[in-house]
Amino acid sequence: MLDIFKRKINYLRISVTDKCNLRCHYCMPDGEIQLLPRWEILSLEEIIEVARVAVDMGIDKVRLTGGEPLVRRNIIGLVAGIAQLEGIRNFGMSTNGILLREYAHQLADAGLHRVNVSLDATSPEKYAEITRGGDVSRVFAGIDAAIDAGLTPVKINCVVEHSSQEKDALDVALFGREKGLKVRYIRQMTPEKGEFWPVQGGDGGHCLTCNRLRLSSNGMIRPCLFSDIGYSVREFGIRRAIEMAIAAKPASGRVSNNKFYEIGG
Ligand code: SAM
Ligand code: SF4
Repeated sequence: MLDIFKRKINYLRISVTDKCNLRCHYCMPDGEIQLLPRWEILSLEEIIEVARVAVDMGIDKVRLTGGEPLVRRNIIGLVAGIAQLEGIRNFGMSTNGILLREYAHQLADAGLHRVNVSLDATSPEKYAEITRGGDVSRVFAGIDAAIDAGLTPVKINCVVEHSSQEKDALDVALFGREKGLKVRYIRQMTPEKGEFWPVQGGDGGHCLTCNRLRLSSNGMIRPCLFSDIGYSVREFGIRRAIEMAIAAKPASGRVSNNKFYEIGG
């Protein structure tokens, strides 16, 4: 599928839930968060159907994200349902890794190809501070399990305040070198203020070559993280929502009300 700027759209990022077992300060607001009502959240069958139609239309790369995808009930069934679609070349998941030790082998058996694990600090105190209570030793165990299960290449996503030269980012770089894992640095973004940057070591954030569509957990197809444009698959039907989103994909992002924990980054 080509958009009006001749960008080839072949990548769908699917947010399977807005719930999370962490509370990273740059992602979730402090205190009570307003989760989407349950009836708004797409069922697993609906998500698989969106993926099926998208793959039929030319999507060949799919990534599950969230919220935290591993807290969604029967995530293994969802992975299996998507993995069996013919035409998927690249099928990944972005996870915080907390539950990965428990799930890595089941995910691989269900047909997931690879995982990206978020890790912003290696010091237990700093990790707990950033995630408001997370246990970094579980992430380390999750990464080892993912490697063992063959969900490779495992990549690390590291959010930095300003640069990859910050202390915590350097610790994560060292960890990556020791484990032989690629680390990508994501500078903290604020969609509401139009603050966004290309991902260092990744392909996100380059508007000129952006190949992405997103499906939010409540069924909106969104063509850009930094725009509020979106079309509901329930309202317009899947194919039409995808076509409309591609037709409306902006040349570059500006500002949006998108929440990372809703749309998945
Ligand atoms: N829970 C999973 C995780 O943490 O990997 C998947 C969802 S999370 C929203 C996806 C990615 O978005 C993570 O790598 C996270 O660090 C990043 N992210 C969240 N809020 C961000 C922000 N304000 N600026 C930049 N990246 C952000
Ligand atoms: Fe949860 Fe991921 Fe957001 Fe952290 S970045 S609060 S792990 S969704």
